[in-house]
Amino acid sequence: MFSTKKIVLACGLGIKSLARQVGMDIPIRPQRGQILVTERTHPLLEQPFVTIRQTQEGSFLFGASHEEVGFDTGTTLEEMRRLAGHAVQVFPELARLQLVRCWGALRILTPDTKPVYVESESCPGAFVVTSHSGITLAPLHAQRLSEWIVEGVAPDGFEQFHPRRFDA
Ligand SMILES: Cc1cc2nc3c(=O)[nH]c(=O)nc-3n(C[C@H](O)[C@H](O)[C@H](O)COP(=O)(O)OP(=O)(O)OC[C@H]3O[C@@H](n4cnc5c(N)ncnc54)[C@H](O)[C@@H]3O)c2cc1C
Repeated sequence: MFSTKKIVLACGLGIKSLARQVGMDIPIRPQRGQILVTERTHPLLEQPFVTIRQTQEGSFLFGASHEEVGFDTGTTLEEMRRLAGHAVQVFPELARLQLVRCWGALRILTPDTKPVYVESESCPGAFVVTSHSGITLAPLHAQRLSEWIVEGVAPDGFEQFHPRRFDA
């Protein structure tokens, strides 16, 4: 048995069942994205594009698909072909590179794709934090969100992230 004054539920697609235990219904769903990776090559792309990026090590990453397939993290030849075809259309030079990996991963999406940041009313001190674009939003999560959780004063405008917006 453990006790604590504050707890943050930040467990991606696992949030639904844990949030119910602190009185909250969080409507999230999985959405699969498949990503392709090429062998390494010399630097060709200085700026990342939304769907095509080159890592510092030289690999290209293409993606990602948007598929409603539940919790299936598999890959499909059809989608791999489509993603590769798009990448080669944009940067024909990529056609000479070998693909070395492909994987599927699940986005954590709310109905409007925006984050949920909320403190439970029935269990004060229990927070639910879930967000797609968790990497892009890291500065917000590391500063304003963590200050709210630690100090207890919600930043202006944070009420927009309450899941009650989905009840309308
Ligand atoms: C294809 C794809 C492309 C993406 N592109 C971008 C992008 O370009 N930019 C961007 O910012 N974001 C992107 N994202 C989204 C980003 O990956 C997520 O926003 C981020 O991973 C969410 O982090 P998280 O910690 O909330 O959840 P997760 O990374 O899912 O981590 C949740 C963790 O909680 C654990 N867990 C689950 N249930 C329980 C439980 N009951 N008890 C204990 N632990 C539990 C899980 O095992 C997991 O380790 C992309 C995602 C995908 C799938």
